[in-house]
Amino acid sequence: MTIMSTKTAPTPRVSSCIDSEMNDAERAALLGDVEAYCRELRPIEEICYLEHRRNEAIVELARKHNLMGMPVAKRYGGRGADALTYVRALARINREGNGVRTFFSGQTSIGQYPIMRYGNEAQKEHYLTESCAGRRLLAFGLTEPDAGSNPLEGTCTFRREGGVFLLNGVKYLISNGSIADAVIVFAFPEGASGRERRMSAFIVDTAGETFQSEALHAKPGMYTSDTAMFEMTDHPVPLANLLGPEGDGFRIAMHTLVSGRLSVAAGCLGAIEDCLEEVLTYARKRRQHGKEIGRHQLVQEHIAMIEMMRATSDAMIERAALAKDASDRRPHDRDLLAEADFRVAQAKFHASNAAWEAADRAVQVFGGRGWSELYRPMRHLQDVRVCRIYEGTDEIMKLKIAARLLGKEFEAFS
Ligand SMILES: Cc1cc2nc3c(=O)[nH]c(=O)nc-3n(C[C@H](O)[C@H](O)[C@H](O)COP(=O)(O)OP(=O)(O)OC[C@H]3O[C@@H](n4cnc5c(N)ncnc54)[C@H](O)[C@@H]3O)c2cc1C
Repeated sequence: MTIMSTKTAPTPRVSSCIDSEMNDAERAALLGDVEAYCRELRPIEEICYLEHRRNEAIVELARKHNLMGMPVAKRYGGRGADALTYVRALARINREGNGVRTFFSGQTSIGQYPIMRYGNEAQKEHYLTESCAGRRLLAFGLTEPDAGSNPLEGTCTFRREGGVFLLNGVKYLISNGSIADAVIVFAFPEGASGRERRMSAFIVDTAGETFQSEALHAKPGMYTSDTAMFEMTDHPVPLANLLGPEGDGFRIAMHTLVSGRLSVAAGCLGAIEDCLEEVLTYARKRRQHGKEIGRHQLVQEHIAMIEMMRATSDAMIERAALAKDASDRRPHDRDLLAEADFRVAQAKFHASNAAWEAADRAVQVFGGRGWSELYRPMRHLQDVRVCRIYEGTDEIMKLKIAARLLGKEFEAFS
C-alpha cells in the first residue's frame, strides 16, 4: 500500500474549505493576540483552577481578542489560519491548561470545523458567522453512555414529523456541552435496522425545554472548562439543519475527529513546553546538597527527557498539520485524507503520552511542592491524562496506525 499517493488524486469538486490567504503579518498578528489572551487569562485561570470552578473569562477574553474562529474563513468572520498556525496557537493556549484549550477544541476544531467542511452556504453564513463573532458557542456530541470508541453502537435517534426532525437520546462527556448554543449531534433513524441504520449529523440549537444539559463534576483537573451530558426528548431540529447528506454522519464524525485529535496533540505540546520552562526555572534556583538541583545529573536527565518529548512531539505535530492542511485544500482527495488521518493519529498518540511523561518528570523535579495544584506541573499532569482517552483512545490510535500500514483488510474493527 502506498502511504502517500497524490498522483491519482481526483480534481476536487468543491473549493477548499479554508482560506489560504493568511500572510505572514496576519499570522504574526494572530499569534500576538493569542499571547495577549494567555497573559490576561493566566491570573484569573490560576484562581479558578485552585477553586475548582469554571472560568468564564476563557470565553469572554477569547471574544475580546477575536479568537473564536481562528481557522474559519475570513468571509465568515474567522481569521483564516492554516493548520500549522492554528496548532501553534493551540499549543500556546494549552500552556494555560488543557481545560482552556479544550474549550477551543469544542468551539472550533470539532464545532466549527464540520460546518466549514460539510455545511451548506446558509448553515455557514449563520453558524460560522455567529460563532466567530462569539454570539454562539458550539460543541460536538458524538459520545453516548454506551457508545464511545464505537459510535455505531449509539442509540440517539431522529424521525421526521411535521416539517422538523425530532431527536431523542443522551450524549455524554461533551466538552462545552452545558454552555453551547448549538451542538453537532449524531443520531440514527428511529426504528431502523440493518443497512437502513445509518448515522446522520445535525446542527442542533440547544434552546428549549426539550434539551436538558448538566455539567459533570468530580473531574481530576480541567476544572475551569465545561464537560457535560445532555438529553434530548423529542427535541425539534429544522430540516435545514441536517449537516451533509442524510446517512453521512459517520463519515462526518470521523473526519471531524482528525481535526479534534490534532488539537489534542497541539495542546499536549503546549503542556510539555510549559513543564520545561517551569523545570528550568526551578532547577536553576532550588538548592539541595550544597548546590542548585540543576547541577545534579539525575535532575538533568529529567530535563533532557522533557526536551526530547517536546522536540519529538513538535516534529510530529508539524508533519501532521501539514498533512491536514493538504487534505483541507483538496477535501475530496481520499488519499490526502487517509494520510492526514494517519499522521494526526501518530501525533496525537505520541504527544499525549509524551505530555503525560513530561508532566510526571516535572512533578518529580519539583519534589514535595510538585505534589500540589499550587504548582503548574501537577496541574498539567492532571489535565493531560485525558488526552490519552478523548478524541480516540491510545488503543484506537494504535489500531488506526497499524491498519494503515497493514492495509484496510487488516482493520481490527470495522
Ligand atoms: C473530558 C472529556 C471530554 C470529552 N469531550 C467529548 C466531546 O466533546 N464530544 C464527544 O463526542 N465525546 C467527548 N468525550 C468522550 C471521549 O471521546 C470518549 O470518552 C472516548 O472516545 C472513549 O470512549 P469511552 O469513554 O466510551 O471508552 P470505551 O470505548 O468504553 O473504552 C474503554 C476502554 O476499552 C478500549 N477499547 C474499546 N474498544 C477497543 C478495541 N476495539 N480494541 C482495543 N481496545 C478497545 C479503549 O481503548 C479503552 O481503554 C470526552 C471525554 C472526556 C473524558
